[in-house]
Parts: sequence; structure tokens; C-alpha cells
Amino acid sequence: MSSGSPSGSDSKRQRVLPVPKAAANMRPFEPDSSIVSDIIPSPNYGERNKGRQADMIVLHYTGMPDVEGALARLCTAGTEVSAHYVVLEDGRIVQCVPEAKRAWHAGVSSWGGEDDVNSCSIGIEIVNRGHDWGYPEFPLRQIAAVIALCRGIMLRRKVPAHRVLGHSDVAPARKKDPGEKFPWHSLANSGVGHWVTPAPVVRGESLMLGTISDAVLSMQQALAKYGYGVPLTGKYDAATMEVVTAFQRHFRPARLDGVADHSTLSTLQALLASLPPEGTADASK
Ligand SMILES: [Zn+2]
Repeated sequence: MSSGSPSGSDSKRQRVLPVPKAAANMRPFEPDSSIVSDIIPSPNYGERNKGRQADMIVLHYTGMPDVEGALARLCTAGTEVSAHYVVLEDGRIVQCVPEAKRAWHAGVSSWGGEDDVNSCSIGIEIVNRGHDWGYPEFPLRQIAAVIALCRGIMLRRKVPAHRVLGHSDVAPARKKDPGEKFPWHSLANSGVGHWVTPAPVVRGESLMLGTISDAVLSMQQALAKYGYGVPLTGKYDAATMEVVTAFQRHFRPARLDGVADHSTLSTLQALLASLPPEGTADASK
């Protein structure tokens, strides 16, 4: 199939999905959501550990040049990666793993003290070439589909808004997806994800790489309270800087520099203050 040929949105909608060879032999399953348009079963999943149920959603981008390659990777045995859902640019939603099963999307990650994020989450891959391939904007139609899908999962599984997160939130040292162009504010307008309007960037004192102080420890404690896996050392080390960058990518995307300026810190405080009463990240355990 030529992926480079020009085609209008209508013809794209009609286009038959490229089903990876391996998936064609797998038994299909019933979709968990009525807005799923296609099932492409992936062999890459297992059982959720310790009987955990999904109570969080992790959003990703595929980070590959085309949808064919992304689906092949997610649905071929041996790659050791998968996701429950893939949302195409035209808004179609493909399900690859039943929600009851443990898909392999988060990798080494942590949120609210939980290291086995795959066992307690639903993974959604959003088709986008990502930072390595030009990082295009997310089309509105695709974002509308992500919102509808997440709303259904949140209702069915009682996922609180603040437990809809990005891969970069749970794996700050390794991942950038879905990235700073992802419109978290639009999702929040529909009740998906937790968001406050970021405090404006202004000149002033900042905490940054190398700083050792009680203020750094307070910031680390605030980030950890929100859910981030961050060392509580009082030292602004490389790991802390990565977490601050991940926080900015999600909640204060106007400047991604890993420097905890006034805007970053007050946005973090406003987020914590606006969590539901029992809603700190570790309250679910
Ligand atoms: Zn990811």
C-alpha cells in the first residue's frame, strides 16, 4: 500500500485498515467500547498482577512514521509492546487488547508509588509521528475520539480525572509522549484529565539543576504527592530535572526547560489544591 499518495479525508475514512499478518490468525474478541470501529488482536498481553483492576489511563503517541508500522509493532508477537486501543488520525478507534487484560505499554514506570503501571492502567496509543519525525499537531477529529473513548472508560471503570496521564508522567526519564502539543486543556474541558490554567511565566527566582535546599525538598514532596516518581533528597539532580520537565510538558507547556520557576511551582500548587479531597495519587491504595 502506498502511504504517500494524496487522499482526501473521505477516502481515508473508507480505507481498509492494514491488519498485520500475525493478527489475522488471532481470534477476535468483543470490543469493550461501542465506539470501537475495528478489532486487531495483539498477542502481546498477560493477566493483571495481584488481581489489580485498571483505575488509570495512560496516553501515548505511536512515534512512528506511519500507522501501518505502528499497528504491526503493537500486534506482532516478539515486539513485547501493545496497547488496549489505538486512535487513528481520522478518529477511528482500534482495540488490540481486552481491557480486562494487562497490555504492555508503560514499561518501567511509576505513579503514586505504584511501579506496575501496566497492571492498573488502560493504555491508549494515539497515532502521531512524534518528536523524532516532525511531531505534527493532533487533528481535532482524533482528539474528539480520544475524549469519547476516555469518557467511556472513566465511567465504566470509575477512573478519576486526575488519573488520566501521559506516558511522560509515569516514565519521565525515558518518554516524551504524548508531548507538549497534546491538548490536555481540551480534554479537561470534557472532564478528561486534571488541569488548571498554568500560571504565567514571569521573571524571578528559580530552582534549578545543582540547587540544594529545603525549597527543593518541598517541591519534590509536592511532585511526589501529585504522583510523580521523584527522589526526596533536597538536591535538584538530573532525575529531579527530568520530572520537572515532564510536569511542564503536561501542565505548563509554554516553556520546557526543567527549571522550577514561579510559574511551574504555582501551577503545581494549584493542581494539588484542586484535587478532590481523597484524591491524592496514593489514596487509591
Ligand atoms: Zn508511550
